[in-house]
Amino acid sequence: MKPVEELKREADELFSEIEGLELKNKDRLKLPPQDMPNQDPLERIKNMNEVATGYFEPQVRVEAARCLQCKNAPCIQGCPVAINIPAFLKAAEEGDFDKSVKIIKESSLLPAICGRVCPQETQCQATCTVGKAKKDPLKSVSIGRIERYVADIERETGKKSIPEIASETGKKVAVIGSGPAGITAAADLRKAGHQVTIFEAFHRPGGVMIYGIPEFRLPKAIVQEEFDTLTAMGVELQTNFLVGRTRKLTDLIEKDGYNAIFIGSGAGLPKFMNIEGENLVGVFSANEYLTRSNMMKAYDEDHADTPIYHSKKVAVLGGGNVAMDAARTALRLGAEKVYIVYRRTEKEMPARVEEVHHAKEEGIEFLLLHNPKRILGNEKGRVEGLELLTYELGEPDDSGRRRPIPIEGSESVLDVDTVIVSIGNDSNPLLEHTTDNLETNKWGNIVVNEDLETSIDRIYAGGDIVLGAATVILAMGQGRKAAAQINERLAKE
Ligand code: FAD
Ligand code: SF4
Ligand code: SF4
Repeated sequence: MKPVEELKREADELFSEIEGLELKNKDRLKLPPQDMPNQDPLERIKNMNEVATGYFEPQVRVEAARCLQCKNAPCIQGCPVAINIPAFLKAAEEGDFDKSVKIIKESSLLPAICGRVCPQETQCQATCTVGKAKKDPLKSVSIGRIERYVADIERETGKKSIPEIASETGKKVAVIGSGPAGITAAADLRKAGHQVTIFEAFHRPGGVMIYGIPEFRLPKAIVQEEFDTLTAMGVELQTNFLVGRTRKLTDLIEKDGYNAIFIGSGAGLPKFMNIEGENLVGVFSANEYLTRSNMMKAYDEDHADTPIYHSKKVAVLGGGNVAMDAARTALRLGAEKVYIVYRRTEKEMPARVEEVHHAKEEGIEFLLLHNPKRILGNEKGRVEGLELLTYELGEPDDSGRRRPIPIEGSESVLDVDTVIVSIGNDSNPLLEHTTDNLETNKWGNIVVNEDLETSIDRIYAGGDIVLGAATVILAMGQGRKAAAQINERLAKE
């Protein structure tokens, strides 16, 4: 990666060469992809600040000029909320960032967040004509980075405004959960003039965007600001309110007078491996580990709400984005050595290429084709090692990925004092267990019809609780769709 100053100088020069020119497609294709300036790996592992520091203006203008303005715009089909990508890129190329962000906001409520955390390489950028022409998807137009830039400019220049609210309807809607699905549903419901209350189990709103995704990938101040907008719109928030325990779901309609409910309660129940030693001190689920660091700021030892677990050598089990987040967090919390243990090869890893790259740059060691057999403890019940088996890949399984097969007699012991289990999340069964007639599938996800209505009249659901662990943009898209259905229904009554 080139030093930040060099990236800026190169972009300055390039932009002054192309400014005001009528570029043809062949000229656009020659423009080099603009690298994202990042904090230096050796520096950034000592702090929690954002790794990617964001484009400079000339970089945005050059990167946006790489777009060919394709008539069929395959990028739009790759975006789960169908943002008019060529139009917002055109405005960004012209330096009209206000117009650019306005176009994005016609379809997406959270561009500063999605521009940062969307898996763009498998969504909008996967289908980009430029990437296809270059036979390298990593050379697609960096749609997400431009989206982030224009949203940041709007926020930083104080141009973000409070959306208009229709006249009060006198109807009440309850939203369960304050993640991206709940936030989006609440905003769209409030805009229609309904009285909206969000019930959130935690003491802070934001869902995984606050407690899961680390500060160094998504600054919490950005998420908080989205929430402040909701509050300014008149949405009420009740924290420390666990629907199903504090109050039964159906009581909200039957006793408290809510006209409809949207459930966006996410998939926050960590899975474990069920191996020997998982109850030792020093074994965490990635959820718990990340929540302590993100939400309770364990890294800020003088002011933290929770003690930090001091680790020297950490093994993170799993190969997804959550595993990368946990491993990189462990490093920042002071671990000297951090391993990712994954039973397939890097090719099969579900984590984003960028996250794997960043983790490697930071010095995390990848133990591929390895899987734990048991966790070893000392006489005090604390972790003192991890017994691993080496694996090889067999024939493809149902997921299409080659099946990992353990090699007999290949046991080895890894010297670690902390193990973080990061092999996925299930839905929390509380609502299912405390609500009669709420239909769920075999994974515990709430079953909905095409309008996102559940098996109970007036109760809708969306996001991870319906999709299983998915993405911010998909959760947001479902929150928006469910709100539109509720608004349409309440308008008729
Ligand atoms: P959530 O964000 O899970 O929010 C649900 C909220 O409901 C929570 O605040 C919870 O406390 C609350 N709740 C639950 N039950 C109740 C109840 N009974 N009563 C009241 N409140 C309740 N996606 C990406 O797109 N990009 C990424 O880079 C990315 N990284 C991730 C990293 C981590 C560590 C994790 C765990 C996930 C990541 N994801 C990422 C996935 C993404 O965050 C989720 O898909 C998304 O947040 C789901 O949104 P949601 O609104 O459905 O639920
Ligand atoms: Fe791409 Fe996500 Fe933005 Fe859609 S919301 S254009 S998928 S970065
Ligand atoms: Fe631009 Fe790529 Fe979309 Fe074509 S596919 S309009 S080049 S972003």
